[in-house]
Amino acid sequence: MAVTRTFSIIKPDATKRNLTGAVTKMLEDAGLRVVASKRIHMSREQAEGFYAVHKDRPFFGELVDFMMSEPVVVQVLEGEDAVKRNRDIMGATNPAEADDGTIRKEYALSIGENTVHGSDSEENAKIEIDYFFDEDEIVG
Ligand code: ADP
Ligand code: MG
Repeated sequence: MAVTRTFSIIKPDATKRNLTGAVTKMLEDAGLRVVASKRIHMSREQAEGFYAVHKDRPFFGELVDFMMSEPVVVQVLEGEDAVKRNRDIMGATNPAEADDGTIRKEYALSIGENTVHGSDSEENAKIEIDYFFDEDEIVG
């Protein structure tokens, strides 16, 4: 497997509870390297654009409001098979279904307030990285 990149967000429920470091440690312990990172407060436009794929889902409004409610940390992660490795350490969307040892099992509050985002494919990783980062912000 090649070294690849994925995109991660430490979500508002985590930044609010001062878990930025704890979540990042779990990502690093899983073999992922943070090659870009910034703490931002998403605008409505950014949150709606990022989650546009979910715009017809019943939870869309709630999701956008949540993502704007507190700062988030957007990150580019690099490692062997980074997309899958990150999804594995994140755990299932619903923390009630997440495996032991995953970030969502450990920290998520609910299916909505679930601590982390991670790209679900290499193609989406590229799109999501480009949505939040310029190439010169990815420093290795
Ligand atoms: P994942 O983040 O695991 O890729 P999805 O892409 O299906 O999950 O959903 C995006 C985000 O929307 C979830 O991480 C969660 O914050 C929110 N979400 C998903 N399903 C629900 C739901 N049934 N109710 C509330 N929020 C939800
Ligand atoms: Mg998803």
